[in-house]
Amino acid sequence: MKACVLTATGGLDHVTVADVPDAPAPGLGQVRVALQAAALNHLDLHVVGGLPGINYRFPHILGADGAGLVESVGPAVDAVRPGDRVMINPGVSCYECEFCRAGEHSLCVRYGILGEHHPGTLAQFIVVPQQNLARVPDVTPPLSWSEAAAFTLVTLTAWRMVMTRARLRAGETVLIWGVGGGVSLAALRVAKLAGAVAIVTSSSDAKLETARQLGADVTLNHRTQDVGAEVRGLTKKRGVDVVVEHVGDATWQTSLRCLSKGGRLVTCGATTGPLVETDVRRLFWNQYTIMGSTMGNAAEYRDVVSQLAAGQLRPIVDRVFPLAEARAGFERLRRGDQLGKIAITIA
Ligand SMILES: [Zn+2]
Repeated sequence: MKACVLTATGGLDHVTVADVPDAPAPGLGQVRVALQAAALNHLDLHVVGGLPGINYRFPHILGADGAGLVESVGPAVDAVRPGDRVMINPGVSCYECEFCRAGEHSLCVRYGILGEHHPGTLAQFIVVPQQNLARVPDVTPPLSWSEAAAFTLVTLTAWRMVMTRARLRAGETVLIWGVGGGVSLAALRVAKLAGAVAIVTSSSDAKLETARQLGADVTLNHRTQDVGAEVRGLTKKRGVDVVVEHVGDATWQTSLRCLSKGGRLVTCGATTGPLVETDVRRLFWNQYTIMGSTMGNAAEYRDVVSQLAAGQLRPIVDRVFPLAEARAGFERLRRGDQLGKIAITIA
């Protein structure tokens, strides 16, 4: 089958489209999906660069997000049938460990992500556990395959961050960094669904204009404006209730400075560097809560899929590339030119 693979770690020069051995027949509880589209995430760039803890076996099939048609099912599969249109949740859990039994599947001790720890979605076929599939909801106008593929990772991640972890409430104020990115854009829409006041940043005025159209209450250009000072001014020195972080080193101190007393910072990434400085005196005096978040559990996935079925949180697709040009999609992602998701069509 055709797939977009990594032949060695270290950069996009090692990303190519190649013929690889076909995905196997589905085993117990597994489903084989004929992928119609995949979508790119920052995670894929980290995988391309080389992540410690991944046992790479080259060629490594990339891609976490995907959508397609159920082609065949293994024994004991009752969730889907051949021909169903499905979206794939990239987080693979064991469903046996203490965290899985408690319903916290993204805390699974054997947690893995498609395209990172398992063969990915940038291929004609993939085999996944039935728990990782959701039927593509019927909405008007119908979701394209690219939209269906673009939905899961960022929406699920943003939902857990904003709703489950930070527990953002109506009337509260949230600061969201880098709204051009997929998780941040999804976080903006989840925050507006929650009834919060959203302050968003970007280095691009064009992206800020789009964010305004999507409901952002205040937009700040973090290249030309002092976000810390602006937020203090906008909130009359009070600060925001919640900061949504994924940037790490470059923004951490400002994020903390922007928090109100008792404020919550939730992070799912460290794109500019993982080692940050925190003044513990400010942390305890102001009673901040700093929390991590990764992907989401099965209940949260059901929640976001129901929101999509109800006409909310429809993914925003920036641009679509055919599989043969997947590398151009990766390059666009690396440049940070996109607003919304970059999708790759496969069929
Ligand atoms: Zn588990």
